[in-house]
Amino acid sequence: MNKAVFFDRDGIINKRLIDEYVTKIEEFELHEEIIEILKYVKMKGYLAIVITNQQGIGKGLMTEDDLVIVHDYMQYLLQEQAGESFDAIFYCPELDNSGSPRRKPNPGMILEALDLFDIAPAQSIMIGDSISDAQAAINAGIKCILIGDFEFQHADVTILPDLKNLLVNINHSIT
Ligand SMILES: [Mg+2]
Repeated sequence: MNKAVFFDRDGIINKRLIDEYVTKIEEFELHEEIIEILKYVKMKGYLAIVITNQQGIGKGLMTEDDLVIVHDYMQYLLQEQAGESFDAIFYCPELDNSGSPRRKPNPGMILEALDLFDIAPAQSIMIGDSISDAQAAINAGIKCILIGDFEFQHADVTILPDLKNLLVNINHSIT
């Protein structure tokens, strides 16, 4: 079986726009730490998979084609700067109130990935910056590293203050 690191997108891979959606490549700015984090993850033999809610589509603020253009740009930047890119990208275009089983905190997208790529949940981990990322991971039976300032407590969730801290300690978090 394979092992995987699942990445939330906005706030982890790229800088999050407050109360706005990344609808075009001019608004997509990589976090510099993600370059070395991705290189490490791939060097250790993990699949690197994006799991992202994108309800800007459901709200009609962008199209799926717009999102694909942003993701192609993300992959291009990573290939240029890290020599690696993500193995797969799962996104949920549906609205918060849709009740979609794919939308985080529901585990649907992670479960799809586990099945499609024959991934062992016990050897995999999610990296996110929202409680809903941690809940999706828990609901899928995988561990989570939550980046930020949270009170949240769960045996399978490790809280780190920022991506710099993750990068410095990555050999403890992703082994
Ligand atoms: Mg996020």
